[in-house]
Amino acid sequence: MMISRTENILDEKTLSLVFEHIDTAVLIGNLSREIVAMNTAAEDLFGYKREELIHCNSQILYAREEDYKQQGKYRFNSQAGLVDDSYVTTYRNKAGKVFRGQTTAGAIKDNLGNTLFFVVMVKDDSSRLSAEETLNKLHIITSSRQLSFSQRVYEILKLGTEHFGLPIGIFSQIVGDEYVVQQAVHPEDALDSGMKFDLGITYCWHVYQSNDVQGFHHVSQSAIFSHPCYESFKLEAYLGTPIFVDGERYGTLNFSSQEPTRPFIRQDFELIRLFAEWIGHEIARNNDLLELENAHQQMRTLANTDALTGLPNRGCTERVMAQYLNMSKGAASKRKLACAIFDFDYFKSINDNYGHHIGDEVLQLFAQSVKQHCRDDDHYGRWGGEEFLAIFPDKSAADVLPILQRLKKEIYDRPMSVQGKELRLTFSVGLTDCQGDSMGEILKRVDGLLYQAKDNGRDRIEVG
Ligand code: GH3
Ligand code: MG
Ligand code: MG
Repeated sequence: MMISRTENILDEKTLSLVFEHIDTAVLIGNLSREIVAMNTAAEDLFGYKREELIHCNSQILYAREEDYKQQGKYRFNSQAGLVDDSYVTTYRNKAGKVFRGQTTAGAIKDNLGNTLFFVVMVKDDSSRLSAEETLNKLHIITSSRQLSFSQRVYEILKLGTEHFGLPIGIFSQIVGDEYVVQQAVHPEDALDSGMKFDLGITYCWHVYQSNDVQGFHHVSQSAIFSHPCYESFKLEAYLGTPIFVDGERYGTLNFSSQEPTRPFIRQDFELIRLFAEWIGHEIARNNDLLELENAHQQMRTLANTDALTGLPNRGCTERVMAQYLNMSKGAASKRKLACAIFDFDYFKSINDNYGHHIGDEVLQLFAQSVKQHCRDDDHYGRWGGEEFLAIFPDKSAADVLPILQRLKKEIYDRPMSVQGKELRLTFSVGLTDCQGDSMGEILKRVDGLLYQAKDNGRDRIEVG
């Protein structure tokens, strides 16, 4: 009969022989999920001798009971159809080590479709799987727009400590022989940014010597057991890599532990290099952004500044005035605001008598005095030619008057010496309160006051 023939062929012994020379762990279970056969690769992977497992329930190999139950419902029962996907399950070996195994499993059926056995093939894929997971996490961290640069570095340090099983993570900058902690994670928070060490007493010295990744997994048992870093900090395990920014060495990324660890594998080196590469790129990008921001700032400053005197120019002064007028418009109780316009007396004759460059120097001298006098939020700007306009927030014209009188006196008392002669400078001023008026009204009024000052003999301040 067909059935008995199939049963005869598929006895446990035969099955064991079939799988013996495959280097993937193979286990065969019966319908009660007892292990009935296994190969040598399975002995190696799970750490049990064959005789310890045969007739045991396969649950012994699972790290989590729920996985055992779930797989039972899904594929290891006589009713289950063909399930041809491979999957990852967390197993536990005899020594208690938990690992994740890439698993392919299915039923062995007779030609009537009755399930006879289950066959399970397991490959320890922990390191590949955890590297894959770490890469995914790295991608999430580096592509997150919500996190700042230092938040991302912190997440990368944490990710590295978890992945490598080394609880101390440091991102350092190295300048000359000085090793400066930029950011760190430490189980006792013993490392702060800004902490400095002599590069020579750190394992990073080796990274800098070789310009490449270095790993020591058990320092006291290695050739560098007398390293000053071991003597000072008792760090048994270390994995570190240089960080390059625009092709220049910047510092290191390193992970360490006071406990020895497993030997490092190539994948560890590749991962830490990848972390460091990202940090290096990001520093370079930040530097570029900073330069761009500085250039923008310079352009903004230039666009708002009068080249001759260094004071804010007319456009900027108008914008500042408009802002103050807007602010006081919305305010429940009107803020005080005063405005003054200055015009040098007989300026044309200074140019005519001493030359245009002396006229320029006079304007620069005025700007210097003003910068020294300028208090609080007071704003002085060059209005055009030899005219200047000033805005005094939270001050009335009466508050400002003594300030301007002092400024006039100071400028008059500091005569310029030109061609052996003393050149005394005077100017006329129109000064007014601004409350409730539009910019046009204020400028018209202050201009009128200035003309009045000129008409009334110059070198004076008209308040209105
Ligand atoms: P007043 O007392 O009536 O103001 O007489 P003024 O000669 O000062 O007359 P006004 O204010 O009309 O003349 C301004 C002069 O300032 C005319 C122009 O030659 C000169 N000026 C304008 N801008 C500059 C500048 O940037 N540098 C120099 N050196 N002179 C300038
Ligand atoms: Mg003028
Ligand atoms: Mg003038």
